[in-house]
Amino acid sequence: MELQTLILGAGAAGMMCAAHAGPGTLVIDHAGSPGEKIRISGGGRCNFTNMHTEPGCFLGTNPHFHKSALSRYTQWDFLDLVDRHRIAWHEKTLGQLFCDGKATQIVDMLRGEMARAGAQLWLQTSLAALDHDGARFTMMLDRDGQRRIVTARNLVLATGGKSIPKMGATGLAYDIARRFGHAVTDTRPALVPLTFTDKRFAPLSGVATPVAASAGGARFEEAMLFTHRGLSGPAILQVSSYWREGDPISVDLLPGIDLGDRLRGLRKTHGKRNVTTGLAEMLPERLVDHLAEELPLHGNLGDLADRRIDAIAARIKDWTLTPTGSEGYRTAEVTLGGIASDRIDSRTMMSRDVPGLFVIGEAVDVTGWLGGYNFQWAWSSGVAAGQAAAARA
Ligand SMILES: Cc1cc2nc3c(=O)[nH]c(=O)nc-3n(C[C@H](O)[C@H](O)[C@H](O)COP(=O)(O)OP(=O)(O)OC[C@H]3O[C@@H](n4cnc5c(N)ncnc54)[C@H](O)[C@@H]3O)c2cc1C
Repeated sequence: MELQTLILGAGAAGMMCAAHAGPGTLVIDHAGSPGEKIRISGGGRCNFTNMHTEPGCFLGTNPHFHKSALSRYTQWDFLDLVDRHRIAWHEKTLGQLFCDGKATQIVDMLRGEMARAGAQLWLQTSLAALDHDGARFTMMLDRDGQRRIVTARNLVLATGGKSIPKMGATGLAYDIARRFGHAVTDTRPALVPLTFTDKRFAPLSGVATPVAASAGGARFEEAMLFTHRGLSGPAILQVSSYWREGDPISVDLLPGIDLGDRLRGLRKTHGKRNVTTGLAEMLPERLVDHLAEELPLHGNLGDLADRRIDAIAARIKDWTLTPTGSEGYRTAEVTLGGIASDRIDSRTMMSRDVPGLFVIGEAVDVTGWLGGYNFQWAWSSGVAAGQAAAARA
């Protein structure tokens, strides 16, 4: 079978690429259905893009690499596609756009776009062997217990990252990229809960509070959730992408509040009240109990000297914690790092060294913040590669 383009991986990026790659396109995936991560994303409603998408919301060794693809297929282009398919959506918070209904609407939309473009989809198909003669890729595929040989002018690596191995994540794109001489950066789980081996927060499990969490020079103001094993919630998932083992994170438990001023005010008006009672007006009670032991906090507000108030405020506004690890790829939403972008053309996503070899989506060393940014990268890089592959016809 002779193809123009073979796309490895029917996830977000692979399907979007197939919809733009022109005639003679086949997408293969070892899973039984395409877009499984789309289906489970956003709590089943898929946070499919973010209105505030801009290059600063992405991490990667080269902070400029992702600019071209993101500017040529934007969040508004994807929203236009969603609207054309009459999929109802809403903004949840911070520019995050979700389906009103099920995430499978997005999968169906992409399948529809692929069918319209004439792309074929082979599921439960895996790559058994791969060869390249300088002009065409020859691949042996295993499908339905049969071995098929296909040749293609273009090969697109779209098998994603390592997160959630239970869902079929593999490092295939990394292996193939390495084989063709591309470097792969160190990879690590990102957008992932952080853990503490001493389980110090187990008694607080289930408590959530708005915070500003900081690590590695980044700061995110969102909710934090205490879990049995540590810390989670959007603020923590966001900083996990910037955190490294051994480093502390800083949590401002009362962002936007001048706690020193507040406590001085309470000292005047409610001097007989216990400090913990005063704090419980601003923070969840169970958290105040925990802080009362850790700081420690005791006595009446009226007895607090200015120095003590400043010390309490400093601790609560800059609560410094050193996680021992993360929940790892088992629950990480994405993989930080990936195929190095230095030898990839940012406009086309094609290898500078192997004409016809493309890499897209999460497999590449581009990682978005939480909030729809990772899907937008999958759509933008997929379109860039699809259009470039079609242009090589
Ligand atoms: C629980 C969860 C929720 C998420 N929610 C959001 C969200 O709401 N918004 C957002 O922007 N991002 C979200 N993400 C991240 C987002 O899902 C990914 O960034 C995005 O799916 C990456 O797209 P991709 O096409 O590169 O990879 P994937 O979507 O992972 O697709 C890769 C495909 O390749 C296939 N594959 C892998 N290995 C092989 C192999 N060896 N042979 C054949 N096929 C193979 C897989 O089966 C899969 O279909 C979430 C991730 C998780 C895990």
